Amino acid sequence: MNTQNLTWAQRDSAVNWHPFTAIKTAGEAVAITHGEGAYLYDENGKRYIDAISSWWVNLHGHAHPYIAGQVSEQLRTLEHVIFAGFTHPSAVALSEALLTVLPDNQSKVFYSDNGSTAVEVALKMSLQYAYNRGEKKTKILAFKLGYHGDTFGAMAVSGRSGWTEPFAELLFDVIHIDLPTADNLREIRTVIDEHADQIACFVYEPLVLGAGGMVMYEAAHLDALLRHCRSKGILLVQDEIFVGFGRTGRMFAADHLSEKPDMMCLSKGLTGGTMPLGVTTCTDAVHQAFCTDNVYGTLFHGHSFTANPLACRAALASLHLLKSEETRASIARICNRHAAFRARVATHATINSVRQCGTILAMNMGADGADSYFRNQYRAVFKALLQKGILLRPLGNVLYLVPPYCISDDDLRYIYDAIIEVLE
Ligand SMILES: *Cc1c(COP(=O)(O)O)cnc(C)c1O
Repeated sequence: MNTQNLTWAQRDSAVNWHPFTAIKTAGEAVAITHGEGAYLYDENGKRYIDAISSWWVNLHGHAHPYIAGQVSEQLRTLEHVIFAGFTHPSAVALSEALLTVLPDNQSKVFYSDNGSTAVEVALKMSLQYAYNRGEKKTKILAFKLGYHGDTFGAMAVSGRSGWTEPFAELLFDVIHIDLPTADNLREIRTVIDEHADQIACFVYEPLVLGAGGMVMYEAAHLDALLRHCRSKGILLVQDEIFVGFGRTGRMFAADHLSEKPDMMCLSKGLTGGTMPLGVTTCTDAVHQAFCTDNVYGTLFHGHSFTANPLACRAALASLHLLKSEETRASIARICNRHAAFRARVATHATINSVRQCGTILAMNMGADGADSYFRNQYRAVFKALLQKGILLRPLGNVLYLVPPYCISDDDLRYIYDAIIEVLE
């Protein structure tokens, strides 16, 4: 192919297949050539405010000089090493640092490459935990609207929809439950109790179901559900892949809950959005079940790039920034600005169910119950905002903001005004 005189976007169309993209109607991708802070720049020099942190991963802005410096130093020292029988300082330091900020019952860190694999590891740990103890537990409990990734196991424990339909027959059986509310806990308990002795674990996104539509629910109701699961010997696998690292206004969603999980899954913001990395942590009790003389009690799981030093170093750098006074103040500031916006649009006709959990702000486009009328317009909203230099990618009729913490007040104000203008 002669690529002379073609744009990056044109060359892309010829060779790339993009994630979650309906090929026929997609059109050309926007080619981003560089980023700085909350901004992305396309090949024509147009600037976009990255209001969704590039699919929820970025915490401190793009091409952050401190993270870049740390990663480049690591790159010149040790780029990668096998993690079976070997280790390296960045993995040790990162695990130590994570265990100081995670709930204090977490005691071991298992590395992988991304969110889906962090969930796969947690599923295998839970199932094999039972196996190693001679218990027959092969069922998993999960939320109907949950999302835990796109590999087969992660897909199986996610909510079922048109997206998973082509694979439906091959997905293992999962007991799907509703989100806990003030009134339905008794019904949920009944569903759980029916299979309780066969359930290995409960996998859940705490406080916010991200990909399910930024659906939010209360910590107190989750705590009640977790207590019930615990009383039935069901392991608690808390998926903080999206909500971890400050999104909820606190370091982890766990910091809003009184029940502590048995395992946690982290990714996305883990490296500040710089490198792919996944983490599954667990309690000492879970780890102990694998400490056995029987070789088949081993967790036979690993990825070539397990605990990649560059990714671990990026995560250490990101955690350092996250703990700074400046970042904490920014998170509090974003929470306050979001709250003010909520009050401002409270009675707006075409913006509904405005909800917030910390730095995550979501709203439904169109009058409630008028979904179908607006359906064709969701993409138009995306395009109109893009035109205004704002990257917001709605989930169906749900428009949401998940900004990097370095976003300025001026940019937040510009985004809020643009949303109101576009949705009017
Ligand atoms: C994105 C996400 C995942 C999957 O992570 P990937 O890195 O995209 O595989 C899992 N769980 C939750 C809650 C997520 O938001």
